This record gives sequence, C-alpha cells and structure tokens, in this order.
Amino acid sequence: MRELTVLGTASQVPTRHRNHNGYLLRWDDEVILFDPGEGTQRQMLMAGLAVTPLRRICITHFHGDHALGLPGIIQRISLDRVPHPVHVHYPAGGRDYFTRLRHATSFYDVAQLVEEPVGDGYRTETAAGTLTALPLRHSIETYGYRLAEPDGRRMIPALLAAHGIAGPAIGELQRTGRSGRITLDDVSAPRPGQRFAFVMDTGLCDNVFALAEGADLLVIESTFLAEDAAMAAQVGHLTAGQAASVARQSGVRTLLLTHFSQRYGDSTRFLDEARAEFDGDIVLAEDLMRVPVPPRREAAEPHRPEPAPAHQEAAEPRRPEPAPAHQEAAEPHRPEPAPAHQEAAEPHRPEPAFARHEAGDPGHAAGETPALPTRTGP
Ligand SMILES: [Zn+2]
Ligand SMILES: [Zn+2]
Repeated sequence: MRELTVLGTASQVPTRHRNHNGYLLRWDDEVILFDPGEGTQRQMLMAGLAVTPLRRICITHFHGDHALGLPGIIQRISLDRVPHPVHVHYPAGGRDYFTRLRHATSFYDVAQLVEEPVGDGYRTETAAGTLTALPLRHSIETYGYRLAEPDGRRMIPALLAAHGIAGPAIGELQRTGRSGRITLDDVSAPRPGQRFAFVMDTGLCDNVFALAEGADLLVIESTFLAEDAAMAAQVGHLTAGQAASVARQSGVRTLLLTHFSQRYGDSTRFLDEARAEFDGDIVLAEDLMRVPVPPRREAAEPHRPEPAPAHQEAAEPRRPEPAPAHQEAAEPHRPEPAPAHQEAAEPHRPEPAFARHEAGDPGHAAGETPALPTRTGP
C-alpha cells in the first residue's frame, strides 16, 4: 500500500482545525514520517497509526512547526520498544537542535535511532527507492526530499505463455534477463517507478522543480495567497499559485497543498488560485486525510526519465477532472494493531463550526524569520 496520511496542515501556529505539520508516508514496508510538528503523536493516534512500523523520519528544517513533535515521537518509539532502527534525516547544520530534541526530557531510552544528517545532494537507498535531499530557499537551512522508485519491467502473462515460459524459467529471466533464446524484453513491458516529493518552507528556486520533477504525488507548502506574494518571497514561502505552477511545469500528477497560513479564513481561495495554474488533481490538505499515491503510470504514457531536467513543460496531457478538494477528514480508522500503551481511538474530534479567525491570531509572519532577499522565481 502506498498512501500518505496527513497529520497536520498549519503553518506557524495551529488552529482549532489544523494541527502543526506531520505527514506519514506508507510506501509498502517503508514508513516515513515527515516533519513531526507539535502534537504529532496524538494526531497519529487520531489517525489510527502506531509508531512501530516507522522506519524513517525526515526533517526539512528546525522551525518549531516542523520539529517540535520529535521529542514525543522519539519517546514513544522507546516506550513502544520499536524493534528495529529508525533512521532520522535532518539538515546537517541543525545537529544541535536535533540533539536537544532527542534528549529534551528524561525518559527510559531504548530507542534505536540512526542519525543521517543531510547535505546538498544527499542520497541514500531505501526499501522504497532512492531518497534524495536538496537544499531549499528559506530563512534557515532547509531541505526538500524526493523518493524515487527505480524503473522496472512487468511480466506480461500472455507473452510468457506465447513463448512457452513458465515455472523456474520465469525466475531465470528475472535474474539473468534471458531464458534460452527469449529475453526479458520479449515477455515484459516497462514499469515506470513511482515518485514522491516533499517540499516544505521555501521560496521558489530551481531545487523545488528538481524535487517535484515527474512526481506522482507532490506535497508542497502553500502558505500564502497571491495578494501576499511579496511577503511570501521575503520570508521564504510559496503562494498556492506558485506551488501549482511548479506542479504544472514539473509534470506532477497529484498536487497536495498544505502548510496554510491561518491569516486566511476561506481555504477555498487556495484551491481557486492553484486551479488557475494546474489542471491535474489538487488536494487541499486537511488534518487526518488519507491520500493514496496515484496508480502507477502505464508504460505507454510519456514518462520522464529519472533524473530529468527541471523547468521542462509537462509531456503528459493533464487530466481534466475536477480535483477532489475539500475532502472530509478521514473517519476514525485503525489499520494497525494498537500498541499496548495506546488508548482506544476516539471518534473524530467534534468540532465547532468552522471559525474564520482564530482568537489572538498574531499573523503568520510575526517572528518567523529575518527577511530573505526577494527573488523572482523561475
Ligand atoms: Zn513552517
Ligand atoms: Zn520554516
């Protein structure tokens, strides 16, 4: 199963409807938690997710809305005796922050964490494919992540039968590329690898495009609307329209917008601005939403090789269907056996009617970052 569970979707401050960030990607056996903001442990409970399957944690940067949930998650990994190592990727320059969060309070520490700080061009092989990190343009050291499954080949039963290939000969073909006079190409078709990209807290820069290139699912920050584009550029953030433009130019299939500033009451405006730039699938993230990685591309579809140059126009015609925006948050759902210490999952939070303004809203940019030099994106 390949699916993203959205745990939080707020930017600087949480709201009654949006927790701080948190995104759990299940990619078969590779389970990766991205940017656990404050409250992520409880959001996982609400989503019916345990920490036990976690294999990897990826931190884009050490602003609180992306990392203050780490102490809770790490201590839960220890409490639940997760029986395997959990790899933790974070910006190499933020090691001190990680160390403090790792040991934020006293606890009985049996967590097996493997620290893997990332720098420019970092890549590592995972069970899901190649994980790459590229630097982004924000007020502090920030990296986006990209997961790319290698392209492969898919056996076609009718061709196998036509060539009389069966039983052990199939294994031989897969291992060696040939069985007698029959080659793998005779009985199989290309199977494009799937790609996932995670782009948080950045102004437009080349690496946003490099990360998003040909992604089946792109999770990208969409902090601001166009009316605040100048401020977005100044503090190192994207508007919904910019994020959608990246998706269009990069041949993205499903675009998931998140990290919304609480300054806007009506989140449909993000969708409107994104829709003007991108006619593929757009999802406005809501807490506890589950978003499947779209089905694998058919080999016959134009498929851009990995890695591909950025800024290329999409080779694939966009799907015209309206996007499944404003999906309701996923209902309570418990796919994992509950860990011993977990309370019974409660039904989804009974929420008051959607509030247009959070009490005491200080505005997103307050105290966020020193200004970045304004730069026009590509
Ligand atoms: Zn943020
Ligand atoms: Zn930030």
